[in-house]
Amino acid sequence: MLVRLMYASRAVPEVNQEELVAIVRKSKANNPAVGVTGVLCFSEGIFLQVLEGGRGPVNALYNRIAADPRHSQVELLAYEEIGERRFAGWSMGQVNLARLNPGLLLKYSETAALDPFSVSGQVSMALFEELMATASIVGQA
Ligand code: FAD
Repeated sequence: MLVRLMYASRAVPEVNQEELVAIVRKSKANNPAVGVTGVLCFSEGIFLQVLEGGRGPVNALYNRIAADPRHSQVELLAYEEIGERRFAGWSMGQVNLARLNPGLLLKYSETAALDPFSVSGQVSMALFEELMATASIVGQA
């Protein structure tokens, strides 16, 4: 039983590049053992993350992440049972913001800023799919 979960949250002001690196490092260390894969996007204080894997491990990880003091306003955007993973290649991939084309953001939202709180979960997932298609996700498992 595989599921895909996506949420958005707002980082606390203390989260900087160093903290982001620590989060990704911890994710890459922990996720393979529980069979979780996914992608984390961080832009202008907003996290957008997709987690895929077994229902139990994904639910447990989401609960742990939601309680993390490094972010707040954790909002579940999508949760579905899936037949196959879309992000199987990443224990926790990262969106390479340097390669993020503003036109891609404009395609899906009113401004060229990442704001998953103001668009549907479907739109944020479509953005992730395009990021994958345009090789904008880095950090192979
Ligand atoms: P430890 O790293 O030993 O941590 C023990 C406790 O201390 C935990 O409660 C932890 O939350 C807390 N802690 C650790 N470092 C800090 C810190 N710098 N500031 C405040 N509290 C801290 N973890 C994953 O395993 N996989 C993921 O995909 C993942 N994605 C994340 C995405 C986001 C946006 C954030 C904010 C965190 C994410 N985390 C992820 C981290 C997760 O919230 C837990 O901190 C981590 O899983 C705990 O790992 P651990 O059990 O090895 O405990």
